Amino acid sequence: MNLTLESYINHINSGELKAVDVLNNYLNKSKDLNKENNAFVRFHEEYANEFIKNSDSTILKGAPIGVKDIFLTKGLVTSCCSKMLQNYISPYSSTCFLNLEKAGACMIGKTNMDEFAMGSSTENSFFGPTINPYGKNRIPGGSSGGSAAAVASDMCIASLGTDTGGSIRQPASMCGVVGFKPTYGRVSRYGIQAMASSLDQAGVFTKTVKDAAILTKYMSGKDKKDATSLDLDFSDSLDLALQKDNLKGYKIAVINQFFSEGLDQGVKKIILDKIEEIKDKGAEVEYIDFSILDYALSVYYIIMPAELSTNLSRFDGIRFGHQDETFKYDDIYSYYSSIRNEGFQDEAKRRIMIGTYVLSAGYYDAYYLRAQKVRKLIKEEYDKIFSKYDAIVGPVSPTPAWKIGEKINDPIKMYLSDIYTIPVNLAGLPAMSLPAGNIEKDGESLPVGLHIIANQLKEENIFSIASVLEK
Ligand code: GLN
Repeated sequence: MNLTLESYINHINSGELKAVDVLNNYLNKSKDLNKENNAFVRFHEEYANEFIKNSDSTILKGAPIGVKDIFLTKGLVTSCCSKMLQNYISPYSSTCFLNLEKAGACMIGKTNMDEFAMGSSTENSFFGPTINPYGKNRIPGGSSGGSAAAVASDMCIASLGTDTGGSIRQPASMCGVVGFKPTYGRVSRYGIQAMASSLDQAGVFTKTVKDAAILTKYMSGKDKKDATSLDLDFSDSLDLALQKDNLKGYKIAVINQFFSEGLDQGVKKIILDKIEEIKDKGAEVEYIDFSILDYALSVYYIIMPAELSTNLSRFDGIRFGHQDETFKYDDIYSYYSSIRNEGFQDEAKRRIMIGTYVLSAGYYDAYYLRAQKVRKLIKEEYDKIFSKYDAIVGPVSPTPAWKIGEKINDPIKMYLSDIYTIPVNLAGLPAMSLPAGNIEKDGESLPVGLHIIANQLKEENIFSIASVLEK
């Protein structure tokens, strides 16, 4: 147990461990811990035991992984932690999951998440919240909170998540694991339930930077079923990046706006200490202004619900979704509304209403189109920054993990917790949360992540900085 992906592969190759034994140990440990933390919503034991039989000849040797309940996996339930899809068995698998299956990663189960990936705390799950392994009554972050908690408590070696506005990086930061989201297009979105298609990107949770590179390499690549997927291999550049032991020649930007009001003093100290370490390793660090970032959250909360309301329109109880014979309805409209009222929880309803509103005739120009224009300006500002700097570093989340229930009734407060992660998705950039330290709060030691952001397709800069700091 307590294996990294790299050490697991080595132990299997040397014959010291057998894949089937490791799998069963992980399954037993996970099922046991799950009673306390609810990181998994389903275990796929039968699938895993069948899969492991043929894993010897593969690259990843059957390494046990957790998969966010949003990736379609053929013949097995994928529910997006919604009542709407509670019993939905997908007829095909998502491309990136297939890629990992081919490479030999063995899924042990599906991990908990906010319903349809909407949220920052995993409290919007139909199956109840996941508990942060570092705090008794604390959220693990979200929306991929189950995947982060599962890796943090060694219920699996690594896990998959999706990041539309921070859902990999924020829970990784709060659970003290590595969370990496590649450039938009690196990983095919085919077969991943869409939240906001122009922002969604799949990525990984791991215990080490190297493990993140290994898994990302195998899950990414061109897929003719996703027109936005990229036909570019980055394996060699990642391998080179992992060998770095200093940051000489690197120019790194720190955004002043990220250190203003709202940032927890403990988080601030950890991040500033890391920035000093980065300087000690030879990089040149400069503080810059990025004032248009003040609009990022507003832009996201127009574009995301617009795309989301469109993507969720297929859940109407006819094409897809929850059905119940006992529903009383007079016409097709009342049928739809009763199905959608029963199937979706509050956050989904709120965002469907906002999205429908900003796309409606008369408001489209005033909100949606305007948000798209500001999005473009944000992207252009990033382009300028990356013409001078190799990366941006800063905090992932303004605070460490908060208490369950603390923000659930205040959507604006909840939305504000994503202020540092959201701009990255608006520009399609790759980014990582790297464990940076812990803060003591109420007798608990809560993890904090360092945010490392690079230009599109410059993942190697992130991996260089992260691996030098990790070493
Ligand atoms: N927390 C953000 C939201 O609620 C991001 C979600 C995500 O990345 N899936 O929209």
